[in-house]
Amino acid sequence: MVVGNMTIETEVLVIGSGPGGYVAAIRSAQLGKEVLLVEEEKQLGGVCLHAGCIPSKALIHASDFYEKIHHMADMGIEIKDYKVDIKKMIAWKDGIREKLDAGIKGLFKKYGIEVITGKAIFKSDSEVRIEGKTDISVIKFKQAIIATGSVPLEVSGFPFSSKYVMSSKEALSLQEIPKKLIIIGGGYIGTEMGTVYGKLGTEVHIVEMLDRLIPAFDREVVEVVARKLSSFKVNLHLSTKALGMKEKEGKAAVEIEEKGKKIILEADKVLVVVGRKPNSKGIGLENTSVKTDDKGFIKVDQQMRAAKNIFAIGDVVGQPMLAHKASREAKVAAEVIAGKPSAFDNKVIPFIVFNDPELISAGLTEEDARAKGKDIVIGRFPFAALGKAMTLQQTDGFVKIIADKNSKVVLGVQAVGPNVSELVSEAALAIEMGATLEDIALTIHPHPTIGESLMECAEAALGEAIHIFSPKKKE
Ligand code: FAD
Repeated sequence: MVVGNMTIETEVLVIGSGPGGYVAAIRSAQLGKEVLLVEEEKQLGGVCLHAGCIPSKALIHASDFYEKIHHMADMGIEIKDYKVDIKKMIAWKDGIREKLDAGIKGLFKKYGIEVITGKAIFKSDSEVRIEGKTDISVIKFKQAIIATGSVPLEVSGFPFSSKYVMSSKEALSLQEIPKKLIIIGGGYIGTEMGTVYGKLGTEVHIVEMLDRLIPAFDREVVEVVARKLSSFKVNLHLSTKALGMKEKEGKAAVEIEEKGKKIILEADKVLVVVGRKPNSKGIGLENTSVKTDDKGFIKVDQQMRAAKNIFAIGDVVGQPMLAHKASREAKVAAEVIAGKPSAFDNKVIPFIVFNDPELISAGLTEEDARAKGKDIVIGRFPFAALGKAMTLQQTDGFVKIIADKNSKVVLGVQAVGPNVSELVSEAALAIEMGATLEDIALTIHPHPTIGESLMECAEAALGEAIHIFSPKKKE
């Protein structure tokens, strides 16, 4: 540890450069503030850019491309002698990271945002000390924004220190494709990584304690993905517990308990993705007025305020741990600091899982709406009835819309199908604006697009879809 001896001052101090921190820094600078950002790593962009959203989506795209080659013969395209060079694939993915990292650094330069590489640890409500190779030892601030993100959770018996066990970070930079991979955790990261390696030819086993994958989605939505995963050698072990692991002849021998039976699965690598915890320990919060809850999340109000002059945003303040939630919170914190009447009052935080096919959710799920006792009407539209889906050779899945039965106000949209990630923003906008089923049904959706499925789905809820039999619903 190297500690400098200089004390400097700033108006706004941002700690962490993920989609929370860097957005907060830029927005604060746009609003005329003097901004200084402290980041432990040399790169800017946080987990999302370097070990999360962007690298995982790059590998999902590359592995999908590889898998699609198998099916091209149906369209009259034959490709012989193709193979994967994983080292090149990872280098291509790293190139994307580097470009985006340079993009943030370029913007910071233009906005005059100073960056200090080091770890910030609070000394009080107005000072942090810096650990790292820098001359600066203390920064005094008027306002601070904590955006320290989250770190992966470990599972007992599967320490990250083992050469066989890895977190999502290492799984996104493997230099060899594992022959066999066990993934502990069937949430969105586990299923996305299972999709990547399943498509690259790895025998994947996903071990999940619950009786379903990705519980944030309705069961019928997730089942479409579960069927597809099974089609490319991804084995699902649901209602199954991972008990422990031993080394056996250069492999990991993992004991699982599946439906009351103990079984040993062997693998080259074990990926543990059971969730993440807030990165709020070891940053000196005990020296401030900031409070955390029993899980370690920093407590904030609707203006992202954690103490009089300290704000917190992103993964460190709570679920859902998503980049776009962090960025929205970042804008709120920066605007409140600049004296604007901003608040995190969004109705929905849309959620996408980049599985094959993709999953989206905005607003209430059917299961949520029923549990809340809401009187609802539902519309469904299958991709099997959509021309665009056929041209993409991807007709699995459907769109589902949930609306209030009397007012027809849209409460939620879920979908599983081709490129549905591009539908979710329209769904979120509809809910934010209090749109009704008619608003969506009467908006002209261009043909042929995946977007038409949302219009047909709203029409189906009204009993007037054109491309599926849709008898008028009785009032
Ligand atoms: P982070 O991105 O975690 O950044 C925190 C930064 O703070 C880090 O750079 C860290 O080095 C720095 N830091 C921490 N402590 C200190 C300190 N004391 N001093 C200085 N610097 C410090 N979300 C999506 O919306 N879409 C996706 O597709 C998606 N895919 C994902 C895939 C994976 C494999 C993973 C792991 C996550 C994914 N996420 C996705 C989640 C997303 O990455 C996070 O929600 C997002 O990065 C949170 O942003 P943040 O700004 O809160 O923190």
